[in-house]
Amino acid sequence: MIPATFDYIRPTTLDDAIIALATREDAKILAGGHSLIPAMKLRLAQPKTVIDIARIADLDYIREQDGKIVVGSMTTHYTIESSDLLAENCPLLPEVAAQIGDVQVRNRGTIGGSLVHADPAADWPAAILALDAEMQIAGANGRRTVASKDFFVEMMQSAVQPNEILVEIRVPATPRSVAYVKFAQKASGFAIAGVAAVLDKARKAASVGVTGVAAKAYRATAVESALRGKTMNAESIREAASKASDDIETLNDIHASAEFRAHLAIVNTKRALELAASR
Ligand SMILES: Cc1cc2nc3c(=O)[nH]c(=O)nc-3n(C[C@H](O)[C@H](O)[C@H](O)COP(=O)(O)OP(=O)(O)OC[C@H]3O[C@@H](n4cnc5c(N)ncnc54)[C@H](O)[C@@H]3O)c2cc1C
Repeated sequence: MIPATFDYIRPTTLDDAIIALATREDAKILAGGHSLIPAMKLRLAQPKTVIDIARIADLDYIREQDGKIVVGSMTTHYTIESSDLLAENCPLLPEVAAQIGDVQVRNRGTIGGSLVHADPAADWPAAILALDAEMQIAGANGRRTVASKDFFVEMMQSAVQPNEILVEIRVPATPRSVAYVKFAQKASGFAIAGVAAVLDKARKAASVGVTGVAAKAYRATAVESALRGKTMNAESIREAASKASDDIETLNDIHASAEFRAHLAIVNTKRALELAASR
């Protein structure tokens, strides 16, 4: 439970962090440390240099910009949970944040660290997918923007390369017809099946993100197609939700069988759609 030896540096600007990442061999970014430190203690990760970005003040913010809500990657789950701006303009994010782990995890863990880590049971990916968020990533060659649908590559792998830093998450302002419903692993709170629903009642459309169920979070496109153009009522929701795990290879592990996960995806999609529709 003692990590291998490593160098520790703590830059105060994003540029310095990018230079360190580009010039140091086998370096890793440290954000809240809730995933990286346990991995280092188990020696699943043995970086030669740890670059702590906690003192880079301009990675920690929530603001409106160019008609979108932008969230710095070092923003903690708790800051998101308690943000008035988000409660008013993108209530799905506080709703998800409030369901992550416990108060200690929410106080230190960051949205950026969680997204880059790409744990298949993490909560944020469901919301990020349902909101069609954009991720801004910086590296030695400049900045690039990645759409949420391209961000989660496979289990524990995001689109952020080893020499890059996730800087910002951009989400559209959304109405209140949103919901996140999860069946949690009892000890950690991680999702066994978490479903985020965003409804556009005027256009009779829904977007649905699912986490915990497969090797990476996904958009339940079969559910979305089934609801497109239909009035949301108990029958249309039940019918559409039954497709929540169609064509998905569901995970099978000590926490839940593949069949149980597929069932939970359907139940929680129905509940998330009903809840969102009632708001
Ligand atoms: C007891 C416990 C319970 C938990 N329960 C839940 C839960 O219910 N739901 C949930 O979703 N999560 C849960 N988590 C995980 C928690 O949300 C972590 O905050 C998250 O997994 C990682 O965020 P972090 O800021 O701690 O990142 P770190 O551990 O510091 O970093 C994680 C990885 O991302 C990289 N990284 C971090 N930030 C950046 C960046 N900006 N750019 C590039 N790379 C970066 C690091 O190099 C590392 O590889 C739990 C964790 C614990 C310990």
